[in-house]
Amino acid sequence: MTNLALRTGAINLGQGFPDVDGPHAIKEAAIRAIENGHNQYPPGTGIPVLREAVADHQRRHYGLDLDPDTEVLVTTGATEALAATILALAGPGDEVVTLEPFYDSHAACIALAGATHVRVPLHPTPDGFRLDPVQVRAAVGPRTRLILVNTPHNPTGTVLTRAELEVVADAARSVDAVVVTDEVYEHLVYDDAVHVPVATLPGMAERTITISSAGKTFSFTGWKIGWLHGPAHLVEAVRTVKQFLTYTSGSPFQPAIAQALADDEAPRALAASLAARRDLLCEGLVAAGFEVVVPRGTYFVVADGAPLGFEDGTELCRRLPALAGVVGVPVSAFCAASPGDEDLSGPTTAQALASRVRFTFVKREDVLREAVTRLAALR
Ligand SMILES: *Cc1c(COP(=O)(O)O)cnc(C)c1O
Repeated sequence: MTNLALRTGAINLGQGFPDVDGPHAIKEAAIRAIENGHNQYPPGTGIPVLREAVADHQRRHYGLDLDPDTEVLVTTGATEALAATILALAGPGDEVVTLEPFYDSHAACIALAGATHVRVPLHPTPDGFRLDPVQVRAAVGPRTRLILVNTPHNPTGTVLTRAELEVVADAARSVDAVVVTDEVYEHLVYDDAVHVPVATLPGMAERTITISSAGKTFSFTGWKIGWLHGPAHLVEAVRTVKQFLTYTSGSPFQPAIAQALADDEAPRALAASLAARRDLLCEGLVAAGFEVVVPRGTYFVVADGAPLGFEDGTELCRRLPALAGVVGVPVSAFCAASPGDEDLSGPTTAQALASRVRFTFVKREDVLREAVTRLAALR
């Protein structure tokens, strides 16, 4: 869809990356780090100041108590943290449960590990996309090795509630599974939504790998500084895989992100500005005739083209540049292409969400205004 946007000159609300960089002071910190000789391999676990900054951040925000030497690992973005974790902890014969729709790399890494992907659907409701506790329990069984959750959730913008996460935690405990939680949008929550890290639930720190990243929080997606934390024996297993993926990366960016993590103001300001941009895009989509499920977090809103007569979101996305000069991504791209055992009793999630399209609002306000003006042509 990004290629389509480039080819047609349409406004790209498909790919979720900011069109404004993060704080200038953090850029300067990276430039200084290069000049001061941070240009060779950093330690495989990440530089100590960054691991300490991650531990401090988790204590300050969530009351989690981490040993930065044994329980924190710096990674090449959340992407590598996910890959190394799944490759370390799951293999052939194991089942990995995810939400559906899911972030594309979740499914890809499960396939790379040779594990079986089991999915739990998120259902659109007036109160966001929500989990059905019965379906969570049904997806988990004796072969479940990992339960991979993502909150705030890409692509739906849902912030899972404490009650929903308790259901996941109960299911994990019942079969002795590890929970892997992708929290890269932890600071990008709106209205009165609260981000609840799974590791803060009673008894869960000992069986949870928490993954986050500087990319989304500080608008430096190209720096690829991520991290994970969890109990030492699991982190050691993940580090052993990471050793042979990248070993290490981002030498000058690691001290800069350590500095960024000490300051809570930039993410707060970004969240406030994103909430306003979410409103602008959601109102524009509704005015154009879409139905939207208002997101409480992330960069994304899911809009339904069915009220406009588009039952197939993929077809709508292919035609949208010509119809309105805008690009989105069909939600079916975040769903399994073929049914699994869990789908036998009804439509697949790809079918249930066939008419839905994901749009990003992490673009400048003038870009969003122009997109909304163009989308109005659809009506
Ligand atoms: C962007 C994104 C990632 C990747 O993060 P990086 O730090 O850029 O590797 C992982 N998970 C989700 C849900 C994302 O949206």
